[in-house]
Amino acid sequence: PAPDPRGRRVLLKLSGEAFGGGSVGVDPEVISRVAQEIADAASLGVQIGIVVGGGNFFRGAELSQRGMERARADYMGMLGTVMNCLALQDFLEQAGRDTRVQTAITMGQVAEPYIPRRAIRHLEKGRVVIFGAGAGLPYFSTDTVAAQRALEIKAEVVLMGKNGVDGVYTADPHKDPTATRLDDLTYHDALQKGLKVVDATAFSLLMDNRLPMVVFGMEGAGDVTRALVGERIGTLVTG
Ligand code: UDP
Repeated sequence: PAPDPRGRRVLLKLSGEAFGGGSVGVDPEVISRVAQEIADAASLGVQIGIVVGGGNFFRGAELSQRGMERARADYMGMLGTVMNCLALQDFLEQAGRDTRVQTAITMGQVAEPYIPRRAIRHLEKGRVVIFGAGAGLPYFSTDTVAAQRALEIKAEVVLMGKNGVDGVYTADPHKDPTATRLDDLTYHDALQKGLKVVDATAFSLLMDNRLPMVVFGMEGAGDVTRALVGERIGTLVTG
């Protein structure tokens, strides 16, 4: 039986790439579908913090390969995540949920600043809290921020919603047809087998703090809700 979702607190990481529906910018159809799935889980009592990526706008590492200074390019990447946050906020509110956006780079006209204790209060009141602008620090990824925010708001698990892959595989499923999906593994196994799950900084934060992570695909209908309420989906990685 599925666990009781009431009072469960989770941190959901959403891929920016998925938000773009395959191109630069936002795809309202994708975002409204994801928002509805989040609203469904919230109405069952799940406390939900969200970190949104920005890969549908800019990735600092890519811009720097094309001649931009890395740190400035990373700030562009962080600003991209804020646009995704606002789009998600809009569709969540259309779905009837109270929300707050908190950003790591202050921009008082559009969002609250990141204040962890206030974020926790919002969650306790049933508001969905969306964290934008990454960590506010160049050279970090939104996966790392997801791990950090999860730890700080005392979430029980990080749910890594991926685009184009629905879990952790024994090898890259796009390159190796014999690759199979793992139901569960430990951080130790992932290291030993050289499985690339999240970047190294995110990985070490999760492993050092023994925070469980679920890697799942966000494309299947209902899968975001399933992950949020705690149904078994994708790959569970534990310390
Ligand atoms: N970024 C950053 N610091 C952070 C989070 C993000 O510099 O704390 C920048 C970085 O350039 C990154 C971009 O924002 O490439 C978009 O985030 P990410 O690539 O993690 O998005 P995703 O791949 O999840 O869509």
